[in-house]
Amino acid sequence: MTSFDCIVIGGGHNGLVAAATLAKTGRRVLVLEAANEVGGAARTEEFAPGFRTSSIAHLLNRLHPDVVKTLELEKHGLRFNRADFVPSVALSRDGPALMLHGAYGEVLTGASPTEQSAWKALRAQLLRYAGILKPFLSRRPPDLAGVSLLEAASLGQAALGLKKLGKEDMRDFLRVLLMNVADLLDEQLEDIRLKGLLAFDATLGSHLGPRSPTSLLGLYYRLAGEAGGMAGAQIVPQGGMGAVIAAIRASAEKAGVSIRVSSPVTRIIVEKGRAVGVALDTGEEMRARTIVSAINPATTFLHLIGPREIDTGFTRKVKNIRMKGDAAKLNLALDRPPQFTGVDATGHKGRLVIAPSPDHVERAFNPSKYGEFSPEPVMEITLPSLADPSLAPDGACVLSAVVQYAPYALKQGWNVGKPKFREAVMAQLEAYAPGVGKSVVHAELLTPADIETRYRMPGGHWHHGELQADQMLVSRPVSGWSGYDTPILGLFLGGAGSHPGGGVSGAPGLNAARRVLAMKG
Ligand SMILES: Cc1cc2nc3c(=O)[nH]c(=O)nc-3n(C[C@H](O)[C@H](O)[C@H](O)COP(=O)(O)OP(=O)(O)OC[C@H]3O[C@@H](n4cnc5c(N)ncnc54)[C@H](O)[C@@H]3O)c2cc1C
Repeated sequence: MTSFDCIVIGGGHNGLVAAATLAKTGRRVLVLEAANEVGGAARTEEFAPGFRTSSIAHLLNRLHPDVVKTLELEKHGLRFNRADFVPSVALSRDGPALMLHGAYGEVLTGASPTEQSAWKALRAQLLRYAGILKPFLSRRPPDLAGVSLLEAASLGQAALGLKKLGKEDMRDFLRVLLMNVADLLDEQLEDIRLKGLLAFDATLGSHLGPRSPTSLLGLYYRLAGEAGGMAGAQIVPQGGMGAVIAAIRASAEKAGVSIRVSSPVTRIIVEKGRAVGVALDTGEEMRARTIVSAINPATTFLHLIGPREIDTGFTRKVKNIRMKGDAAKLNLALDRPPQFTGVDATGHKGRLVIAPSPDHVERAFNPSKYGEFSPEPVMEITLPSLADPSLAPDGACVLSAVVQYAPYALKQGWNVGKPKFREAVMAQLEAYAPGVGKSVVHAELLTPADIETRYRMPGGHWHHGELQADQMLVSRPVSGWSGYDTPILGLFLGGAGSHPGGGVSGAPGLNAARRVLAMKG
């Protein structure tokens, strides 16, 4: 039987980050990935002959700076600067689009002067408040049972951040923290296009509408992330998200990590309450002192371990993690670039959002509560081949769209519902980019159910578990076990289902590795 210091289950970006961080300390680390390539939901793949795209995640906006530094990703070819930041475009069916340029709207165009100054004030406030949450992303949530000296120091830092706000801002921060995003937007802005865009951003990847309590947290989560050193910046990576994975993988391999693909783990071997190894579907077994599971927490405990090794209370908590996704992915191969109404060339290279008002987003959300898809879905579109022509044949174009709301548990079933949902999505696209339908050479629509099967993401969920107030921080993945360790000694969690959540950040993987290193003294 082969043995390692550490086995990482899952070669998604978090698994690779955890593995690289551990291997850099001289440990022998093995990554086991079920699929035939690493990257999880952050891969670039060919979806039609000659057309490649980021199959699922397509925008980089929260790769954690500690990950970039620890893995020396710049040395491995991942370097971004201001010129790579793409604007957000709030599309309009019949008028000019409104655009947020730079790092999340340093400059707003297409709106009235009054709206521009209202946005300037709101943007500064949002970034200030999101900044308070930032230090929490790169460390364990505080252990409420006994705060260690180190944790006390980091909590102190966050408290200092709050204090720096000043009395009035601090009061306002606490007032708005758990508000719904629609109410906050109504307090401060007028333009429904801008409000629609922000309402979309706050709810993307979650089972919330803009009027759901706490929906504003989603906007803070987004703005606590950064790209190229700027909070709120977003990048459509050249080569697709797979290029980010290639850099992370190169760093892991340079540190000595062994990677095995096409190796699904079917069991975590537990002896006397301690994880000592894993078994593959071939029956092969491998041993290690430490196992990091960088896959979904429910899969880890309910399928790879099973109830015999864990107490019923913990099993119940894991079963209760909500993780039914609402986001679908549409990848279109087009024979020519589409023309969105009221958008210039810069806008077409940006992130085009169909969410014409907060009410529209709310109405799109409503059916999903009852297991139905939205007849007028909201979506975020990129045209990655405009900046990177290698992704499509000459003159052709790739359109990549994340579409909401498409509930995982569709009442009529996705076999029946998928063609109807595709029609609804295409009709919506056609309304904003007339003629796009006629240029489609191939369409790939992945519902949350497809994403679950193809990428082994239960519920097809963006965060491997809803990222709402009751499933965040000390309650992520379940209350009492938020610090990457688990009831099984030697087993740690390190995927998006753990704090701070999903998105291509690498933070859960990095934090998990740091926890393992701290445990070993
Ligand atoms: C529709 C959609 C759009 C999104 N868009 C964006 C976006 O634009 N930007 C962004 O930042 N984020 C986006 N996300 C979120 C992002 O994709 C995820 O949060 C992120 O990929 C999670 O990374 P991970 O490494 O934790 O898990 P994953 O990416 O899920 O990787 C887990 C890996 O583990 C492997 N695995 C699973 N089970 C086993 C097993 N038993 N044995 C071995 N290996 C196993 C899987 O094959 C997979 O490779 C999107 C998500 C969705 C659903």
